[in-house]
Amino acid sequence: MIFLCVAIIYIFLVILKLMEFTIRSRKREDVVDITEQIKKLVVGKKAEEGKAVLVYTPHTTCAIMINENYDPNVCIDILAALKNMIPAGKWLHDKIDDNADAHIKASIIGPSVVIPFENGKMKLGTWQNIILGEFDGPKERTIIVEIL
Ligand code: ZN
Repeated sequence: MIFLCVAIIYIFLVILKLMEFTIRSRKREDVVDITEQIKKLVVGKKAEEGKAVLVYTPHTTCAIMINENYDPNVCIDILAALKNMIPAGKWLHDKIDDNADAHIKASIIGPSVVIPFENGKMKLGTWQNIILGEFDGPKERTIIVEIL
């Protein structure tokens, strides 16, 4: 009985582990396309397992967004626009660890996206990619993927 419980917990942890991965951003403000890693995690999952894919990052200074990455300048422009709207170094939290602008940018974009899921595939548009927006890197970031 104990062996069975340990085996079930182990299988559960393996499944959870498979639905989570880490990436490393390269600079303070960065964009990392995570579409292919997520496709690999959800491929083969059946429709009975859910109708949508949740992509979530459990951090306060990065965010998940969906946008075009065919032209990488789109994401670079998004970083530039956020930088223009939210200048660094003028916020109360900067007295603590000098990254208030990163928290604000992450809050505006948000920590997650939900994508419709059908016939084992995410229903992303032709030009849509899933992007991690980094605002206080370089850091290792965890991405959690769940089928809802
Ligand atoms: Zn902070």
